[in-house]
Amino acid sequence: MGNINEIYDVMIIGAGVVGVAIARELSRYSNRLGVIEKEPDVSLGASCRNSGVIHSGINYKPGTRRAILGVRGNAMMDELCFELNVPLKRIGKLTVALTEEDLPGLFRLYEQGRANGVPGMEMMNNSAMRRIQPGVDGIFGLWTPSSGIISPYGLTIALAENAHANGVDFYLECQVESLTRRDDGVFEVGARDLRHNAMRKFETRVIINSAGIHSDEISRMAGIDDGVIWACRGEYYVLDRRLDGTLKTLVYPVPGRNDPGLGIHLTPTVDGNILIGPSAVYIPDEDREDYRATAPVMESLKREGLRLLPDLAASDFIRNFAGNRPKQTSPEVGGNADFTIEDTAIPGFIRLQGIESPGLTSSPAIALEVRDLVSRHIELRSRTDFNAANPGFTGFFSDLPLEARRELIGSDPEYGEIICRCERITKREIRNAIENPLGARTLMSVKYRARATMGRCQGGFCLPRIVRMLRDEYGYEPEDFMAKGRGAYMFAGHVRSRGEAV
Ligand SMILES: Cc1cc2nc3c(=O)[nH]c(=O)nc-3n(C[C@H](O)[C@H](O)[C@H](O)COP(=O)(O)OP(=O)(O)OC[C@H]3O[C@@H](n4cnc5c(N)ncnc54)[C@H](O)[C@@H]3O)c2cc1C
Repeated sequence: MGNINEIYDVMIIGAGVVGVAIARELSRYSNRLGVIEKEPDVSLGASCRNSGVIHSGINYKPGTRRAILGVRGNAMMDELCFELNVPLKRIGKLTVALTEEDLPGLFRLYEQGRANGVPGMEMMNNSAMRRIQPGVDGIFGLWTPSSGIISPYGLTIALAENAHANGVDFYLECQVESLTRRDDGVFEVGARDLRHNAMRKFETRVIINSAGIHSDEISRMAGIDDGVIWACRGEYYVLDRRLDGTLKTLVYPVPGRNDPGLGIHLTPTVDGNILIGPSAVYIPDEDREDYRATAPVMESLKREGLRLLPDLAASDFIRNFAGNRPKQTSPEVGGNADFTIEDTAIPGFIRLQGIESPGLTSSPAIALEVRDLVSRHIELRSRTDFNAANPGFTGFFSDLPLEARRELIGSDPEYGEIICRCERITKREIRNAIENPLGARTLMSVKYRARATMGRCQGGFCLPRIVRMLRDEYGYEPEDFMAKGRGAYMFAGHVRSRGEAV
């Protein structure tokens, strides 16, 4: 933790993929940087609640930031993922015209893609499409080989931990409640420390508002009230890993001109599951962070899943989740507005609003754009000791060849003890996740870092073992165990006192 009396050069509000990509980019300089996040870990907003697709850029109007930064971000991903040891699979995408009515829309996407500089596009008839994805329906399709898939929270965590290793201070469970710009140009940031229910004060020369679905509220704190955010929920079903390999590529329908999303589709994940979704339903303002799945949407996703993959069994639908898009267009207008990334009338207050899809894809390119905005306000001082790679072994033990696994077990016997049977995750990997450098303390922090509890049993076997480790080896009380965000506690207390005879 940094010294709170020291003035930060830059403070970033929000530790989603965009905020931490900016933090990591700015950590190439020796300025003082801090990130404030209200949740107990990074990546608990939209950045863990999306399709995990690295989009090619065909869907965005030429000249917009979504188009320019989406294509640029896509091109930056290989090097970034290599540096951070984050798996990225360039599996390509087929956008499919199912009927003749879809053809004008498909040709429009092709023209947009050309104007946006999307590499390697090809128009295909059905037999060419079936060579890529056996059994795919549709009369014509657009192939974009630069589309890919990634773990969205894996990327966010890796960016954050790398930024932290390069000197960025992270304040988790700290909710920004007030912003004041003093006459000397320094901002005072009032934030509630949610863990200790106390107020904290930070001082900074530049503020970056990267607060996602709450970014309009942060702007209002600074005195800017001209950008309203509407929440538009996208729900998903997750299918079992039994189906790994069923989809060779991404297959999307042609979206309508005014659709708020890209249409319901099947998306393979890097971990071998398949997602069905997302829906797109505007929700009331007070529900911005309501991520509950709803019965009618779940039913329609199930129907769609069975239509596309008729052999699905009831047990293949293992869980669901939802993410809320921070829209700048009202339900009446629909469609999508461009990203807002700008200097504001308040010198030193930079705002990012409406960073919906393709925000994950664009994140490294957004970081470069924001770096340039920051350099208008303060001098960014170069450093020579920036380390682009995360230290230590950050892959998954079970993905390694036998010889490498033997060697690791020889050096640390905890690699020889499996805690999560479905995903074959070892005790050492769970320990590394618990001891994460950001000090995040939720069960989701362990799940997102170690992949434990993600399999078919959804934690039935490994969760009690992880909880026992947290209690016996780290001294946590059951009442401390948050599942994910604040307020989502796992346990209410003991059923019987410790040591009481069974
Ligand atoms: C359903 C869905 C599907 C999507 N699919 C894709 C896709 O396939 N590919 C793609 O490229 N993009 C996709 N996106 C878009 C992508 O997820 C977002 O653009 C991206 O995650 C935005 O990141 P962010 O950092 O701006 O926001 P977030 O991840 O939401 O982070 C904002 C953070 O700010 C914090 N915060 C808010 N208020 C405060 C406060 N007062 N104090 C402190 N912290 C605060 C929040 O807790 C949160 O952690 C999708 C989005 C959705 C919803």
